Amino acid sequence: MNLKNYIANVPDFPKKGIQFKDITPLIGDGKAFQYATEQFVNFTKEIGADIIVGPDARGFIFGCPVATQLGLGFVPVRKPGKLPREVIEVSYDLEYGSNTLCLHKGDIKPGQRVLIIDDLLATGGTIEATIKLVEESGGIIAGMGFLIELIALNGRKKLDGYNVLTLMKY
Ligand code: AMP
Repeated sequence: MNLKNYIANVPDFPKKGIQFKDITPLIGDGKAFQYATEQFVNFTKEIGADIIVGPDARGFIFGCPVATQLGLGFVPVRKPGKLPREVIEVSYDLEYGSNTLCLHKGDIKPGQRVLIIDDLLATGGTIEATIKLVEESGGIIAGMGFLIELIALNGRKKLDGYNVLTLMKY
């Protein structure tokens, strides 16, 4: 199945010059969504992960079905003010300004093998912050899976030495 047939390219969204990759046609198609999920499920088995972490919010869409299919737990990484208990947090720079991501303290147990799943790898800022949160919690990064990789933005350079699966490259 060619998953690229289910990605809509939206020029100038959310601002001029950004070519937005819209994944909603893919998740709206049962067969395409199932196929993408299967690729992540196989990868999870291959690398021997025992918990799935997904960043807010599209990481939830792809991470949760993988977790339930394998009977694994799912841990959300969220923007500030969303998680109700004590959190650890990491801030990172964006092109303009900065962003912060949070993880509940204790959600990842020391030594747990973690697979991070997100929709898209662009500059790699989001994944880098998520890796820091997991590693600070004592988790081991078993790998990371993305539906889409935007090669020109070179997020890969931040992921040297990690096991990375991307289902589509642009
Ligand atoms: P980054 O931290 O730069 O790797 O950006 C990754 C996050 O931003 C992903 O979780 C995406 O949801 C979102 N994102 C960045 N660029 C795009 C794009 N061109 N189309 C859709 N989503 C994007």
